[in-house]
Amino acid sequence: MEKVHFIGAGPGDPELITIKGKKLIDQADVIIYAGSLVNPAVLAGRKKDAEVHDSAYMNLDEVMDVMISAAKAGKKVVRVHTGDPSIYGAIREQMVRLDAEGIDYDVIPGVSSFCASAAAVKKEFTLPSVSQTVIITRMEGRTPMPDGEKLKDLAKHHASMCIFLSVGFMDELTKTLLEAGYAPDCPMAVVYKASWPEQKILYGTVSDMAEKVKENKIEKTAMTMVGGFLGDKFELSKLYDSHFTTGYRKGTD
Ligand code: SAH
Repeated sequence: MEKVHFIGAGPGDPELITIKGKKLIDQADVIIYAGSLVNPAVLAGRKKDAEVHDSAYMNLDEVMDVMISAAKAGKKVVRVHTGDPSIYGAIREQMVRLDAEGIDYDVIPGVSSFCASAAAVKKEFTLPSVSQTVIITRMEGRTPMPDGEKLKDLAKHHASMCIFLSVGFMDELTKTLLEAGYAPDCPMAVVYKASWPEQKILYGTVSDMAEKVKENKIEKTAMTMVGGFLGDKFELSKLYDSHFTTGYRKGTD
């Protein structure tokens, strides 16, 4: 039986899928892709007779029926998720069902939208003396946040934060950040459809981002980033410090 491949399609630009992911899509007999976010252009090289299913219109049972019956019939199946499948990809529930059927699978990682968003604003999450930690989170929606993981808890760290799935709650989001002790002028950026032709970047602060998001009518498919990493104050790295000896290079003193 063929392995099922879970593939990260990347953030949108069809050139931001891995070579491995693209090769597997191009060889697939059955493609199930998350049509709400995956750019269909990543499927452009598929076989003429490949069967394509958009999981936006399917529930878990329907997705699994297609996947399991195709795999059992010896077909090559790819399950294409947006960004990287390990982040809000809902892949574990699919893997459990494949395990139960004795169907093997692997995962081809992808460029997550939080990386594509950092690229869009040309910033580094981990700046010396600013933050060495990236928090990936979301606001509570239909999926409840576990204890200790609400935005107000995570905000206490003042780490670089990437908030997925939450641009529609910007009033509440920024209010929570202020309550958690963020300075009103702490920089924020919202990247709508990072790496797509219609990409839009909003720069602002904790105090004005809710207004900017409303003005620009951004309601979904956007990454919210907050933290000092979006500002201009930081120290130089030790890695490239001329005085610093590394395993590869001797320092000047
Ligand atoms: N697995 C995906 C995330 C899926 S959850 C990944 O790794 O990126 C969907 C959320 O991801 C969206 O609500 C939005 O917050 C973010 N997202 C996905 N694609 C995006 C893009 N191109 N630009 C900005 N945010 C994006």
